[in-house]
Amino acid sequence: MEKDQLAVKKKENSFGVADQWIRRSVERLRLSSVVYEHLNRPMRSVEISIPVKMDHGGVELFRGYRVQHNNVLGPFKGGIRFHPAVTAESVTALSQLMTLKCALIGVPFGGGKGGVVCDPHKLSLLEKERLSRGYIRSLGFLLGPDVDIPAPDLFTDAQVMAWMADEYGQLARQYTPGVLTGKPVEVGGSLGRREATSRGCFYVTRETAKLYNFPLEEARIVIQGCGNVGGQVARIFHKQGYRVTAICDISGGLYHPDGLDIPALLEHVRKTGLIEGFSGGEKISSEELLTLDCDILIPAALENQLTAANAAEIKARFVVEAANGPTTPRAEQILGERGAVLVPDILANSGGVLASYFEWVQNRQGYYWDLEQVNRRLEKMMVEAFHAVYQFGREKCGGDSIREAAYGFAVQRLAEAMRYRGWL
Ligand code: NAD
Repeated sequence: MEKDQLAVKKKENSFGVADQWIRRSVERLRLSSVVYEHLNRPMRSVEISIPVKMDHGGVELFRGYRVQHNNVLGPFKGGIRFHPAVTAESVTALSQLMTLKCALIGVPFGGGKGGVVCDPHKLSLLEKERLSRGYIRSLGFLLGPDVDIPAPDLFTDAQVMAWMADEYGQLARQYTPGVLTGKPVEVGGSLGRREATSRGCFYVTRETAKLYNFPLEEARIVIQGCGNVGGQVARIFHKQGYRVTAICDISGGLYHPDGLDIPALLEHVRKTGLIEGFSGGEKISSEELLTLDCDILIPAALENQLTAANAAEIKARFVVEAANGPTTPRAEQILGERGAVLVPDILANSGGVLASYFEWVQNRQGYYWDLEQVNRRLEKMMVEAFHAVYQFGREKCGGDSIREAAYGFAVQRLAEAMRYRGWL
């Protein structure tokens, strides 16, 4: 990453943003300032050096991290990313968000996150396996199904989790599937996990529309991103009979006022990797997509997409943050001033961690649910969390900001647990 890009990232660091919301919640709810201190910094942060035998015969050292942010509600939980831009600071920021997300959605987990500085595209499959196993050999003693439970994140997937679970099993002398989630179904993964984030996002969008008496069948839905999350969100909306009028990926976007043929488009993306080349609508750029005339905008790609530069042009009545941190604070303020409703990331994309919890429960029970059970439980908990947050906002936060309500709700839950456990 270029130096100036890094500087921007630092300035817009989500750690700072989440931190401000936590502080605000602590003040508004008149909680002890010790609550803020507990949530402001991680309980434990570890940096490791992982030696990996490369295919050329030499050894390379990779820098890795695991941050255990807070475990007042239960074992630390959070993904491990393999990415060149991983830093101690970014992993810490993400671990803090996990503490809040788990508290908000009501799973008995704390927050954690891990990462390895590497470019996974430059690693062979065998090198990636050795790196994954090396990470666990270095950090395995800090993990465990009742201690810290990693999951996939950027550029780590079910295969990486399977290697890691296997390595942990060798160290522990017994295969312990509950130590990691996001595994392949064949080695203890859960059905329905792959699309759980998108499914959760769909339920939250549906409940928001209901709450504001907006007829979803009339909605023009626009989605930024067509990967794991965006593509599945589009598929679910389309399958339920709703109209996705635009979608984009890194190659650009497509718009059709009557709705795009999502199954055909996703099939094209599956075959070619990109939306580019699909001919079912008018070509638009990713920037144009954000400011299209629409009712529901679902950013599902990157952070910092809705900014002070484009917020005034955004016409959507509802913005549902499927991605982490897609809206800058200034953009949120501009959207709020014109009455747009924003459903924040810690609520809108928490279906993923909820499904991780289901996987862990199934691993502990040794009893596996069918897809219908997974989806039913996901819907129930997402819908309950949404309404609990909304109600909390009305009673305790006095405003229209669902983000403020979501943070307040999560912080209050964490504070109560801290009080019972004698941490305050
Ligand atoms: P992904 O890599 O599968 O997909 C990202 C998509 O965004 C791709 O279609 C890519 O082409 C597109 N994209 C990238 N840059 C773009 C740009 N400049 N303009 C337009 N499109 C662009 O990633 P994902 O797993 O779908 O994650 C998307 C977001 O959701 C991230 O913020 C991630 O942190 C968040 N999230 C994901 C999960 C999950 O379960 N995968 C859970 C919670 C949050």
